[in-house]
Amino acid sequence: MDTAAPPDLFDAESRALQAARAAYDTCAATQPAPCHRALGELLTAYERLLRETRRLVRRSDRAELEMNQLNLRLQDLAAELEYRATHDPLTGVLNRAAVIELVNSHFADGDIALIVLDIDHFKRINDSFGHPAGDRVIQAVVTCLQAQVPATAHIGRVGGEEFTVVLPGQRGDTCGQVAQTLRSAIEAYAFDLPDGSGVTASFGVCWLPRGSNFDIAYGLADEALYVAKRGGRNQVALASGHVHVQPA
Ligand code: GH3
Ligand code: MG
Ligand code: MG
Repeated sequence: MDTAAPPDLFDAESRALQAARAAYDTCAATQPAPCHRALGELLTAYERLLRETRRLVRRSDRAELEMNQLNLRLQDLAAELEYRATHDPLTGVLNRAAVIELVNSHFADGDIALIVLDIDHFKRINDSFGHPAGDRVIQAVVTCLQAQVPATAHIGRVGGEEFTVVLPGQRGDTCGQVAQTLRSAIEAYAFDLPDGSGVTASFGVCWLPRGSNFDIAYGLADEALYVAKRGGRNQVALASGHVHVQPA
């Protein structure tokens, strides 16, 4: 660590002042009294000016330091605000508004597959084991999704127990398989509910080309989700209407 003192900003002035003070002390006998007195007054005024200036510089340095610290804090708060505005507080995944923005911006560049999933009979979990247990199930479902989705996927929570997985650039014939993988992972997960029961979810999947938008994609995936619910739940339905029933 560098422990050297910082250079004195007024080094030249201090040395000039020292020389003038020495001259003042030694020249009393050789200079006329008014000149000697004037030099003394000048020295006193200059010394005071230098002290004042040093004090102002110290104060301004402190103010600059505080301003830099406040600026950093402001940047942290802005980042936190941005995070809170775009993420779900319970699970940490994207919130509905952020999913809509993400999907619409990706559609400007290319194709998107959208998976919508909804936990089956979730009300029963709340009613039987309480709301906090229901919250833990929601968090565990997100954990399952995070462990299984492709690296390019974005997970969002778009409703109480309803989620989306956005797959930019995913081919239409493979997104159904991704949804099947997610469905199996949730079905196999140990949710640790008091009665030892498991949890399942139903899936609706659609794939749309570049230029489409969230409302169209969500409408199609949601229709497919409804088909999966009506078909008995714990299954994946593609927007085309083709239903992948869970493997036995
Ligand atoms: P389905 O299989 O048809 O989807 O039935 P369901 O019971 O899952 O659906 P329903 O819409 O009847 O119930 C969803 C419940 O989710 C109702 C609501 O109280 C609960 N819920 C919504 N948000 C939260 C949340 O953040 N935490 C908890 N614990 N429950 C929530
Ligand atoms: Mg549900
Ligand atoms: Mg629901």
